[in-house]
Amino acid sequence: MMSSTGLRILAVTAHPDDAEIYIWGSLCAWRAMGATLGLVVASSGEAGVRKGHDAAGLGPRREAEARSAAQNIGLEPIFLRLPDGGLAQSDLLDRELASAMAAFAPTLVLTHDVQDYHPDHRAVSQALQRLASLKVPVLYVDTLAGTTFLPNVYVDTTAHISAKIEAIRRHQSQDPERFVRNATKQSVWRAYQCNAPDGHHAEAFRFDAHYPFSDIRQQLPPAPSLAPLSNFK
Ligand SMILES: [Zn+2]
Repeated sequence: MMSSTGLRILAVTAHPDDAEIYIWGSLCAWRAMGATLGLVVASSGEAGVRKGHDAAGLGPRREAEARSAAQNIGLEPIFLRLPDGGLAQSDLLDRELASAMAAFAPTLVLTHDVQDYHPDHRAVSQALQRLASLKVPVLYVDTLAGTTFLPNVYVDTTAHISAKIEAIRRHQSQDPERFVRNATKQSVWRAYQCNAPDGHHAEAFRFDAHYPFSDIRQQLPPAPSLAPLSNFK
């Protein structure tokens, strides 16, 4: 479908529930702006075996969970089916990501931070950083618990927090309630960090400006509003 805005936002993650946990509220906000969304997931998450769950058939099950979450926002994830837990710099990863980017023709790519805690996340991030250079701006995504991550872009996700929780809950193979709790805490804390009013939620990103992509404000969903500053008299 042709977007009315011309915005084409491509999220590239390592595992089937990463987008839901880190950026789902923002994807909903981009969708509300009329952007066309794409989601590429490098692995099928077959290594994410939780206690008491069966490892057999986990990859296809997790793909189905991700599809079920994504269809609520009209998104069809593409799975590269590279090894979960074994993503590393390789020609294969580069080729797969380059062809996914060429097929979608994004105006903005979202991916994990280069200093993320998870080696699979870092591998995807490093590959994209190379491949996107001079082609498309990259927006780095918040990390688990926000460690080592200093954001400079915030998206107001208050209107989309229920959709985000619902999407995380589609990942039943991952015992999702702890992710629901932690992702909610993080979005409340990120809203507090940028002085949004109480009760607001925000997701955080970092943009490293590089010529020719020095300013991407036209591609961003609305930032959180500021709480009254009367406390600072
Ligand atoms: Zn992950």
